[in-house]
Amino acid sequence: MSALVTYQNYVHGQYISNGSGETFEVINPATGSVSYLVEVATDAVKQAAIDSAKAGFAVWSKMTPMERSRILLKAVALLREHNDELAAGEVLDTGKPWQEASVVDIVTGADSIEFFAGLAPSIEGNQQPVGEDFYYTRREPLGICAGIGAWNYPLQIACWKAAPALACGNVMIFKPSEETPRGAMRLAEIFTQAGVPDGVFNVVQGDGRVGAWLTTNDDIAKVSFTGEVGTGTKVMAAASSTLKEVTMELGGKSPLIIFNDADVDNAVSAAMLANFYTQGEVCTNGTRVFVQKDMYPQFIERLKQRTENNIVCGDPMDAETNFGALISRSHQQKVLEYIAIGQKEGATLLTGGTALQPENAPHGFFVAPTIFTDCTDDMTIAKEEIFGPVMSVFTFEDEQEVIQRANNTHLGLAAGVFTQDITRAHRVIHQLEAGICWINAYGASPAEMPVGGYKMSGIGRENGNETLKAYTQIKAVYVGMQPLESPF
Ligand code: NAP
Repeated sequence: MSALVTYQNYVHGQYISNGSGETFEVINPATGSVSYLVEVATDAVKQAAIDSAKAGFAVWSKMTPMERSRILLKAVALLREHNDELAAGEVLDTGKPWQEASVVDIVTGADSIEFFAGLAPSIEGNQQPVGEDFYYTRREPLGICAGIGAWNYPLQIACWKAAPALACGNVMIFKPSEETPRGAMRLAEIFTQAGVPDGVFNVVQGDGRVGAWLTTNDDIAKVSFTGEVGTGTKVMAAASSTLKEVTMELGGKSPLIIFNDADVDNAVSAAMLANFYTQGEVCTNGTRVFVQKDMYPQFIERLKQRTENNIVCGDPMDAETNFGALISRSHQQKVLEYIAIGQKEGATLLTGGTALQPENAPHGFFVAPTIFTDCTDDMTIAKEEIFGPVMSVFTFEDEQEVIQRANNTHLGLAAGVFTQDITRAHRVIHQLEAGICWINAYGASPAEMPVGGYKMSGIGRENGNETLKAYTQIKAVYVGMQPLESPF
């Protein structure tokens, strides 16, 4: 057996030793075995990351936006050139199917950097006369931003956070989830290769303690966080001690509403995409599927038939596999516990409900695509984010009823509506308390579109024009054109 590779923290354009040799293991979710080791960021590494970021900021923030844009576009080209190698790394770390990672994860990460690189030179201040005097504004970068990522889209999350931050002239210290540390390291290497100056994108490794350090460090101006609601509230509280700006991309329990007049096959496709894509580990998942009464029998019949016949669970690197392994054994157990609670509380298991051991990946952390019917709004599975392949189906009679039930949650990340009635589609969407909405679609998230949550699902947005403002601060400069009038 060959020795495992050990990765170090990426600071100032290179990997640096942590001095202590302390490491953590990264497990391949599809095999259950250790893929590689990573050195934990010690105090020496953290200080080096801060010193380096300060030096990086001094260089990067002085460049013209056009210069920054050109360099970022080189990184975009490199990401695309290395798509397959990078996607394979994401598959090995996350357990998601190659089918998805090879066409989504790197592509959407690169798109976001390309989008913000294009916008960078358009960042403007304004000028306003005030009598003979005038004032003008400058949009200046914030300084050192921290990025803290979840494990479901590791490289894409790193790109989505780095893109607006770097485009606006900030630098970033990024901490990936300790379960998926590879994508951010590879992004850091690519930035260096593209010509991004040293210190502009550093990667520190470790668990929540390294994240917590970022949220309280005096030199950090902003924290952009992706993860669970519970962690997000801790991060925000910690960041408040030094009044850091925050962007919070948190969990959801999103409704997918299907009216009688919807195209049934489209609606079934949406429900499956919204629950089984990335084996259910997507923040925007439409896990509460509300189906209008008359549509219900045919919808359920096709949903069961397609779920049982069209899902190929197995080795995520196999080209045929469209349903992968959950991130860890403990997460697999958590999802199975939610399924047991669903049964105990009286929901009917339509299909799935068990762990799976596919022949070509018998030791992976798989859970079968699971559908519950006869669900009621007060069940635990209807209220809590499971973050696995567990769909709950509900029936409803009329529009106002379903809007009220869909909004009856403290979360508000996403929502979807399926209907052929164009006025109803917009009317319903306008009343749903969610930041990311789809009509006759589900899950698409192009770089141009701002995404983020209402209520407890988040604060601020990623992607889209909106996000630029969150990575700059306004300096207002008043210019006196005449001698000062003074009573003194
Ligand atoms: P998590 O447990 O909240 O962890 C997220 C990140 O925070 C990890 O890097 C984690 O480190 C770190 N962390 C833990 N404790 C911390 C602390 N006290 N201070 C600072 N950082 C800390 O979430 P997860 O399990 O990785 O991801 C799943 C969740 O992310 C789901 O709820 C999902 O809905 C949400 N998500 C949201 C979006 C969105 O755009 N809205 C996108 C993707 C995922 P370690 O894990 O290394 O300990």
